[in-house]
Amino acid sequence: MSRIPTLADLGDVGGKRVLVRTDFNVPMEDGKITDDFRIRAALPTINWLTERGAQVVTASHLGRPKGQPNPKYSMDAVRARLAELAPGVELLENLRFDAGEEGNDPAFVAKLIDGIDLYVDDAFGACHRAHASIVGPPRTLPSAMGLLLAKEVEVLLGLRNDPKHPFVAVLGGSKISDKLGVVEALLNAVDSLVIGGAMCFTFLAAQGYPIGASLWEPDQVDTCKRLLDESKANGKTIHLPEDLVGVDANGEFATFGIRLPDGAKGFDIGPGTAAAFSDVIMEARTVFWNGPMGMFEDPRFEAGTRTVAQAMADTKAFTVVGGGDSAAALAQFGLDDEVDHVSTGGGASLELIELGDLPGLEALRGAPNAK
Ligand code: ADP
Ligand code: MG
Repeated sequence: MSRIPTLADLGDVGGKRVLVRTDFNVPMEDGKITDDFRIRAALPTINWLTERGAQVVTASHLGRPKGQPNPKYSMDAVRARLAELAPGVELLENLRFDAGEEGNDPAFVAKLIDGIDLYVDDAFGACHRAHASIVGPPRTLPSAMGLLLAKEVEVLLGLRNDPKHPFVAVLGGSKISDKLGVVEALLNAVDSLVIGGAMCFTFLAAQGYPIGASLWEPDQVDTCKRLLDESKANGKTIHLPEDLVGVDANGEFATFGIRLPDGAKGFDIGPGTAAAFSDVIMEARTVFWNGPMGMFEDPRFEAGTRTVAQAMADTKAFTVVGGGDSAAALAQFGLDDEVDHVSTGGGASLELIELGDLPGLEALRGAPNAK
């Protein structure tokens, strides 16, 4: 397997036109950017190129315009902000205005790379998709991963292939079926798994506990049973909640033990569980966290997620957070600078950990300048 070419593998970029696939999928409200983090995050790669005399052309998707031009998803606001941060850098129109982007149409690829000499992929969040702007250009152009993408690959493949032990994965969020593949892959790599969020109820049901009217996925119970059995056989621990917080059958806020009464809904891990989970995090040397421990958007149910976030900040372990909502929770608590790496790609980070590769990375490895 050849390695993924880096910026240095592009050779002399002076005077070259370089297409940089960025992730400028920024949050917008009424045509205004509410957080320009993703634009600022692209600057190290853009500056690396422009400082060496390259002419940079950036391209990104924004929202889901579904293959048609739509003024609501225009790049104008992003282009204006980019012009302030990196004068002279071009930005193409929203890639998803053309159905050829998601359809990976060779004609669209040809249009994208017309007049372009080199290609750089710095859009980790889109690398799990075989879209035109991700897999097309490296077929013919000398290519490289940008600095953001290189960091993601280093950190996430490092977790998968060479973690310091004890390695703990903390998983939560709403849907278990989305994340079962990654749970399986992580069970091979970790020493223990900590499970909160709505995800825990399918596991608790698999152990025979009554879960009231909490969110669960009955068709995943057998898989959860198998994972519990396998982990036991392999000497791994799956930590599940011992107490819960939520609402009773009348919709009133309530705290529970591990058994939920009829009609009750669990919306957060309880304080005892949160303390136990943070002990596990404090004693680890590597921690990967994906998925909030509860419905943290509601202040009544944020405590579990806050305690876990604080443990992520306090532990001496190497800490990595993946997932849009987990990152949002960290930011909400003001702790995003206190962990070692916050991945910019939700789906992409899980898929890279699960499969060890992504279509975008494969494409770069096949580029004409890859060794
Ligand atoms: P991420 O984006 O970090 O991967 P997910 O998208 O999987 O996380 O899940 C985040 C969502 O899960 C949040 O909106 C949160 O409110 C929800 N959630 C977590 N725990 C529960 C629960 N017990 N019941 C209902 N929703 C939950
Ligand atoms: Mg999410």
